[in-house]
Amino acid sequence: MLGAEPHRVTRRAGLGALALVCVSALVGCRDGAGEEAMGKARVGVVKPVAAAPRRVELVWPTPNRAYAEGRDIVAFIQPTASGVATSGLFGSVRSGGRQFHEGLDLLPVERDRAGEPLDPVFAAMAGVVRHVYRKAGGSNYGRYIVLEHPAESPPVYTLYAHLAEVAPGLTPGTVVTAGQTIARMGHSSSGEGIPKDRAHLHFEIGVRVSDEFDGWYRGRGFGSPNEQGLFNGMNLLGLDPLEFFARSRTGGLASLDLVFKALPAAVRVRVASPEVPDFLRRYPSLQEKAAAGVTGGWEIDFSATAVPLRWRRPNGETFSGWRRGEARVVFQDEALLAANRGRDLVDKRRGVAVAGEDLAAVLGLLFVR
Ligand SMILES: [Zn+2]
Repeated sequence: MLGAEPHRVTRRAGLGALALVCVSALVGCRDGAGEEAMGKARVGVVKPVAAAPRRVELVWPTPNRAYAEGRDIVAFIQPTASGVATSGLFGSVRSGGRQFHEGLDLLPVERDRAGEPLDPVFAAMAGVVRHVYRKAGGSNYGRYIVLEHPAESPPVYTLYAHLAEVAPGLTPGTVVTAGQTIARMGHSSSGEGIPKDRAHLHFEIGVRVSDEFDGWYRGRGFGSPNEQGLFNGMNLLGLDPLEFFARSRTGGLASLDLVFKALPAAVRVRVASPEVPDFLRRYPSLQEKAAAGVTGGWEIDFSATAVPLRWRRPNGETFSGWRRGEARVVFQDEALLAANRGRDLVDKRRGVAVAGEDLAAVLGLLFVR
């Protein structure tokens, strides 16, 4: 499982580094400059070039080159038993659009004689292992790993699920480099399981909602202990990984913040709470410029899949007469919501828009006390 080399969708040139324009046979040289630099390197002359702006080093998490080569999704997406290719994408892609899928399902490109996948799984960015779950049948995710990426803004998590095996020695706290092999692809899962022929890597990029998840979980009475701590799937909110990879493929991704800034608001909610949720302490770049003076709450833009994308502090008068903790929907994009029926963001109650079940759960976790 350690033989294959990951490919970078972009490479990062560090400030002040001696940067060669073309550093890898796996990344195509666009012009002669790279070859010239390589030629000079061979005779021992390496000229420093101007430091490139910082770019996120985003690595496709499997050896499959199809996405980087711009091929159709059937070349890299594993569909559900329906066989519909889009069912392995992110979003309201299943059961006629009524079922949400929070990541990408990436098919294997290499199998052994028994049909088991051999593809190594690569860390998508440099980061730290936060969670490793090695029991195949104890979670919908099967065996899975969560990394956090403290060097990025925001410091998102990435998640790798249904693994056959986790790389030896990988434990919470282990530091990994971008492209490092962390596991082997598989089809582990709880419940009915995933048949071998539909083995895949379930891959997520997203944000973690709350540091208080355990208490929230206990209070909800689910009837089983939370084995996954803060990295329970209910405390993780994925965005479409292709939003990140698409930007990375076309000219580089200067910062992950760009994706959070660009995604449209499906719902805007105001919450009367003077507190700063731990979410914002973890992801301060998601707060837009702070309002001067007294503020009594928050205005939050949510994506169509209930990810809090952007936070603002309206002035204090906005919330006069509100109950503490009260949340009101102040804007909704009907077309976006209609296209994402797998998540329940807004319901109508006596003609008034209120937070639907999924949005209410996220709000409850964000402002948990
Ligand atoms: Zn999946």
